[in-house]
Amino acid sequence: MQILSGLTLDEIEKITDALHASKFRARQIHNWIYLKSVKSIDEMTDLSVKFREELKKHACVTDTKIKVKQTSSDGTLKYLLEFSDGECVETVLMRFDNRANLTACVSSQVGCAVNCSFCATGKRGFIRNLTYKEIIEQVLTIQRDTGLKVTNVVFMGQGEPLLNLENVLKAMEIFNENLQIGARRLTVSTAGIIPKINELANLDMQSTLAISLHAPNHEIRKQIMQIENKYPMPELKNALKNYIEKTGRRITIEYLLIKDLNDTLDSAKQLVQYLHDLKCNINLIPYNPTAENDYKRPSNNSIMRFKSLLEQSGKKVTVRLERGADIDAACGQLSGKVL
Ligand code: SAH
Ligand code: SF4
Repeated sequence: MQILSGLTLDEIEKITDALHASKFRARQIHNWIYLKSVKSIDEMTDLSVKFREELKKHACVTDTKIKVKQTSSDGTLKYLLEFSDGECVETVLMRFDNRANLTACVSSQVGCAVNCSFCATGKRGFIRNLTYKEIIEQVLTIQRDTGLKVTNVVFMGQGEPLLNLENVLKAMEIFNENLQIGARRLTVSTAGIIPKINELANLDMQSTLAISLHAPNHEIRKQIMQIENKYPMPELKNALKNYIEKTGRRITIEYLLIKDLNDTLDSAKQLVQYLHDLKCNINLIPYNPTAENDYKRPSNNSIMRFKSLLEQSGKKVTVRLERGADIDAACGQLSGKVL
């Protein structure tokens, strides 16, 4: 049985060819899957009943299951999706009332090997990479379930996208070409895998690169992100400079704010110094408490004080809105365990 969801037009043509149907049929099926988000072949009403019956013998729309779906009071949806081998990942859809944008936060791996101390996903360890089809399926499943069109995708769910780069790049290409989500509406977030950042620089990536920096210096970063031992901040900075120079793009620096750990005046000063010659925006993420550790979220006052200290350097600074906190859909809470 072929799964239609996630296939390119060429791949769908192979199926229609085998059924002696015209290439136009393949185009129709492609539209139903990607643009009209149907749940079944029966809904493909511009195909004859006879052809649909024939197609159903060889193909189905999807085999991804929605295991759990939760709706937050702010409209955020969280899905626990199950793939054919029984592994699950979480995908979140964020809607912002005042904007037409619908942003899907997708996972790139089941679990994560990077094991940052503040992150629930990391605590699970690495299970496996997702295929590019499983990455696309997350967006298509949301579209099928809600009937809405996803406009933006961020790779900020479970997993480290740059450690599954081949599948992530292929998924981005399909988002772009088949789902008509422009490259600039795609964001890849990484803990800072330097060789892969260099690879992206050479590909001249036009999507947004977000770096989970989270610390103002080597010592503090080492404490919360083991990866700092392998890819330390000075080398990371060289890679980022090279990336910005080659792609011409502004990057996003993500900075998790943890009370009394990296939210001090001193930290703000050192961060400004580290970033002073990098073309970047800064996104502050108030820490979301998870069960696994006892870090604390700073008060709103200290978040705002930290923000204004950074703003004095002339950089654009935003504070990430908390979405779906009441359904554990906030960053770092996507562990993928069955709820
Ligand atoms: N592995 C990638 C992408 C997934 S994590 C990365 O680390 O960038 C997406 C974002 O959520 C990262 O910036 C991550 O640091 C952040 N995050 C993880 N745990 C968090 C927590 N408990 N509270 C707030 N943000 C968290
Ligand atoms: Fe992995 Fe990102 Fe979590 Fe670190 S923050 S453990 S890199 S998913």
